[in-house]
Amino acid sequence: MTDLPEPLFFAEGAPLGVLVTQPLGKALDYRAPEGGARTGDFVEVPLGPRRVLGVVWGAAAGDLPVARLRPVGRVLDVPPMREELRAFLTRAAAYTLTPPELMLYLATRAPGLVGGQAMRRVWRAGPTPPARMTEARGRVLAALASYGGAALTMGELTRAAGVSSGVVMTMAAQGALIEGEAPRDTPYPRLDPARPGKALSADQAAAAERLLAGADHGAGDFSVTLLKGVTGSGKTEVYLEAVARCLRAGRQALVLLPEIALTAGFIERVEARFGARPAEWHSGVTQTERRRLWRMAAEGGAQLVVGARSALFLPYRDLGLVVVDEEHDPSYKQEDGVLYNARDMAVLRASLCGAQVVLASATPSLETWANAEAGKYARLDLPARFGVAELPQMAAIDMRDQDVPSGRWISPALAGAAAERLAAGEQVLFFLNRRGYAPVTICRACGHQIECHQCDARMVEHRFLKRLMCHQCGATAPMPTACPSCGAEGKLAPVGPGVERLEEETRALFPDARVTVLSSDLFASSRALKERIEAIAAGEADIIIGTQLVAKGHNFPLLTLVGVIDADLGLHGSDLRAGERSFQLIRQVAGRAGRAERPGRALLQTHQPDHPVIRAILSGDEEGFWRAEAAERHALSMPPYGRLAGIILSGPELQAVFDHAGALAMRAEPLHRIGAQVFGPAPAPIARIRGRHRVRMLVKAPKAAPLQGALSAWVAALHLPRNIRLAIDIDPQSFW
Ligand code: ADP
Ligand code: ZN
Repeated sequence: MTDLPEPLFFAEGAPLGVLVTQPLGKALDYRAPEGGARTGDFVEVPLGPRRVLGVVWGAAAGDLPVARLRPVGRVLDVPPMREELRAFLTRAAAYTLTPPELMLYLATRAPGLVGGQAMRRVWRAGPTPPARMTEARGRVLAALASYGGAALTMGELTRAAGVSSGVVMTMAAQGALIEGEAPRDTPYPRLDPARPGKALSADQAAAAERLLAGADHGAGDFSVTLLKGVTGSGKTEVYLEAVARCLRAGRQALVLLPEIALTAGFIERVEARFGARPAEWHSGVTQTERRRLWRMAAEGGAQLVVGARSALFLPYRDLGLVVVDEEHDPSYKQEDGVLYNARDMAVLRASLCGAQVVLASATPSLETWANAEAGKYARLDLPARFGVAELPQMAAIDMRDQDVPSGRWISPALAGAAAERLAAGEQVLFFLNRRGYAPVTICRACGHQIECHQCDARMVEHRFLKRLMCHQCGATAPMPTACPSCGAEGKLAPVGPGVERLEEETRALFPDARVTVLSSDLFASSRALKERIEAIAAGEADIIIGTQLVAKGHNFPLLTLVGVIDADLGLHGSDLRAGERSFQLIRQVAGRAGRAERPGRALLQTHQPDHPVIRAILSGDEEGFWRAEAAERHALSMPPYGRLAGIILSGPELQAVFDHAGALAMRAEPLHRIGAQVFGPAPAPIARIRGRHRVRMLVKAPKAAPLQGALSAWVAALHLPRNIRLAIDIDPQSFW
């Protein structure tokens, strides 16, 4: 564990620095309030006419004489921020080149912090016995004793003792009960790590043992382990052993999942394993629950947190384990606001608090694979599926040999295979990673394509919503009947397939089958989605049509055939990770087939069966695929063997944006000094979003170069007008 400094104490009136959650670019000086303050204290401070939330961050900068400083309003009644979290926010800010105030904002996204803990009135036994012991009064004392002397609310007490509130009030007046206040936010039910888990297979047991041994050097040891195993091999069962171990040690555990729709199933598994539900943190959780969890994380009243990437910023009292499930998932990278990768930040935080990290995946990211190859991360492999389930057989359907009419996408070969499975009473999945009805709407009279008014993107027809939608900005518009360009009526035609259009084709081909579409935009809530998924798992559908939503961890025991409608979809494009992503996504989807007793098959429709990525998917030679990808990236000094930063300038006027980007590119000495190159400026692949023109630059640096320092020095000299924004994306995952 890294040695962290002791908190500093500031006596009343002494100057101190406070970081507030407003974008000011630095901490501000104040004077310590009555009673003093120490670093980490949450405080309310005056800022102009307002009062804002802040944290005592350290010594004062000393720009103003002490006499002119305003005093801290008050120290808030919440557990102070621990040094470990302050260090994490500071380093995460430095790594991502984000102002620390924005990092602090991520760590304080719980409502009611300033309002303080909502209190409620409670009663506990007092020092003097009741003046006259009646039966009712005896029941009150017995009820309190049965809760171990805890304080109870009026409602709890009168119900438990079977008395009226008058009895309680009289006892309180006599001193037999003491009235007080208690926080409304209560600890989560205790999880019991001593309950037995499932009996592990030999492979699973060996992996679990090594995982536990990895953390067996006592509390406070940092380690990172890649837990690699095909879908269904029992990675979850194995890392639940690490969770049990962490809970037994009295430390807190965090499990990050890439998709809210997965949390419900996972929580049920936790409940079955440990006898109670863990705490949940994601966008679907109520404000009250958020406030409770924020506090309980800090007070230790939450042993296990299951959540989305922002759960990484909770004020854990003693975090001992972080699991990043499906660690390769691109959604761990936050792509707006603070640009950070939760997987990498999990490793950073764990290194500061002496926690174990488990990165679980069937198809790890090349970064993680390379870290394991280099010996930086430990690696555990679960080679086989649990029980009788076998990996699906995979084969390509060469679309060049198939007779598929225009406007159709299901080949005769795939349709035939599907018909066989349906006849056997099994399920079939058609995978197409495109939401909506058709990606392009074109006018057959003039060739005009309908585009978003604000973005450089085509509008996608969503028949289910009866609207056109921009997948960049979310703007929608009614489906026009006439071409907006030439005015011709009835000439607008869909081009290309989306899942909704595939549904039509599927229903026509299989009129007797029950067809269902799983696409994120078709469900109003994550609960509705979860219910649909459960119904499908229970057999209430014959054919599932899905986007990448289905690739992530759902179990469909009856599913035995996966048809990938367009395996070539992700192969093209300039994206550095196009090959890696296709490989991961298609293997994940194929992994949906044959999870239970029935063997599965995956068929890939492709026009290029000899493409190296398609061949690697088919042959199942994963190590070979990663080695080849690694060699290629190594030769080009691309991540993870070199470093990248994306620079995006945006503004309302293209020329102005270009001029500033060009000026920046001209003065790149700080970058050249560390051996970095600058590419661009060039219009971004999506050249306009929400009316703002976007220009990109790419900085490429040697792996060991001090990239962040050089980037800061480089952009520091730039003075941008207010309407032009600069964003720096360290380790970019996307290049739009
Ligand atoms: P993964 O996380 O690798 O996809 P899971 O842990 O979800 O795999 O396991 C897949 C399925 O197999 C789950 O339904 C799980 O309950 C079951 N399973 C895995 N290991 C065992 C075991 N040792 N005993 C009983 N069931 C198991
Ligand atoms: Zn748009």
